[in-house]
Amino acid sequence: MNNKCHIVRDLLPSYIDDLCSNESRQFIEEHVASCHVCRDVLHTMENDVEVSDGIEQKKRLEAKKPFKKVAAFFNAQRRLTKYILITALISLGLGICFLANSMVKQKEYKAEVTKLEMVEQEKADIMEDVFHILGSSNEVTKLEEEQLLEVFNKYKEKLHLLAIFPAADLGDWVKENPSVRKEPTTIFPIEYHKAVSVIGSEGIIGANKQIISSQYDLGTVVMANSKWVIQYEYKSSYEKTVERHHQFKYYGPSVWSFFQLPILLFAIFSVLLIVWLILKKHNNHIKDVMG
Ligand SMILES: [Zn+2]
Repeated sequence: MNNKCHIVRDLLPSYIDDLCSNESRQFIEEHVASCHVCRDVLHTMENDVEVSDGIEQKKRLEAKKPFKKVAAFFNAQRRLTKYILITALISLGLGICFLANSMVKQKEYKAEVTKLEMVEQEKADIMEDVFHILGSSNEVTKLEEEQLLEVFNKYKEKLHLLAIFPAADLGDWVKENPSVRKEPTTIFPIEYHKAVSVIGSEGIIGANKQIISSQYDLGTVVMANSKWVIQYEYKSSYEKTVERHHQFKYYGPSVWSFFQLPILLFAIFSVLLIVWLILKKHNNHIKDVMG
């Protein structure tokens, strides 16, 4: 090892780190080209630096790992936030569609209810007409029967049979069914052989014992005053309307039932929107912290 070798060895670390002057670089390169000992030393030192670089790299990666985890979590959370917003908007859209649909349905229902309310009015009108004809005598006269037929014909599209019973002949039946004194009542039909007069689509039947009542309570309406009990049966073709009227009167849906679905969807939208706003704020905060 000559003097030059010593100088080169001193300069090698700076040379590897690329910190020496151009003159020194030239001097080293010329020397190592001819001196295999120094060349070997240079190679060894370069390898060491590479190895330590590798270790450095690994350390940097290790250091990055927790950061990567946080970033992955953050990204997942951002995706979740996005999906929540999408779901909220879908709920809002569906809510609006169902609201429009509910409004149409409710309007249709209201129109039907108005139409069906006529059934109620009609019941009262028929009874009023009949009671108006029947006088104070205990018998139904021929004239009265003719007038009853007129009433029947007025409603012949809807009525099947109209019957007149003297209240006295029914004994306790009227007492047992007090509602018939107050208003036209749908009730299980009274047997026709007790009637003094029956009118049907073929005209005045009189007191016909052969008529079999419909056995259908919703299709039969009865009303009584102190003297007379009036009963009529609806035609089976009109029974659907009568049933529908009965359904809506006693089991009709409330207004809210039409809007349950849109209300539920708007509630979901509101909750998701609040969750989204909270997550959004949280995400922005993390973004600020992470830079
Ligand atoms: Zn040398």
